[in-house]
Amino acid sequence: MALMKGAMLYEGKAKKIFETADQGQVIQYFKDDATAFNAQKKGTIVEKGVVNNKVSEKLFRLLEAGGVPTHFVERLNDREMLTKKVTIVPIEVVVRNVVAGSLAKRLGLKEGVAIAPPLIEFYYKNDALGDPLVTEEHIRLMNLAEPATLAQIKDLALRIDKLLVPFFQERQMILVDFKLEFGRHKGRVILADEISPDTCRFWDQKTKESMDKDRFRKDLGKIEEAYQEVLKRVCG
Ligand code: UDP
Repeated sequence: MALMKGAMLYEGKAKKIFETADQGQVIQYFKDDATAFNAQKKGTIVEKGVVNNKVSEKLFRLLEAGGVPTHFVERLNDREMLTKKVTIVPIEVVVRNVVAGSLAKRLGLKEGVAIAPPLIEFYYKNDALGDPLVTEEHIRLMNLAEPATLAQIKDLALRIDKLLVPFFQERQMILVDFKLEFGRHKGRVILADEISPDTCRFWDQKTKESMDKDRFRKDLGKIEEAYQEVLKRVCG
């Protein structure tokens, strides 16, 4: 039976969310639009939406099998997945296994150095403020999440890292860092959003070359090729 796609509820930078006949479920549509540096840089990565949809499906299934609750219900087609409707906790959770990106820049650390145990950071989801780094005290001050919810989120983020690192290792990829978003569904905290080359840093184990959105951010070329290679290694 074809699923009825209702009104668009939300359009973000890389995805659109549509309502369905079921109040508790939405359709997540993956676009090819790419942005970086708080949307100051804009472009298109051809077929990115298809890659991110399929890679996210694979990783959500892996996490669910590992006991992590996610919003994933089923993949509907190349660019759409059915998900549980959540209220997003306005915090971006970044997990880091290797120094890169803003961590290297902010603290003057050398890119490529291993981080053990993994580092967890929180960013306040607010485009106008440029998603600032926040401490747990800031989160409490602004009441972005209850302390118990935050503790749950941290525990889930570390469990997700433990499941993902070996998965990518088996595919000759280093999971450098990644960003997660969580949401509330029927009183429960579950993983939401996507896990894809847009939201993770992957380095090829042998060449250490970026296989992710850094190729777009830094104009490294072969962007589409890198996304297709991730799809092949993850889902192929
Ligand atoms: N990230 C993301 N969305 C953001 C910011 C970061 O998905 O708005 C991801 C990014 O792809 C990387 C990780 O989070 O895998 C850490 O990013 P970082 O803080 O180093 O920021 P960046 O260097 O990407 O600006």
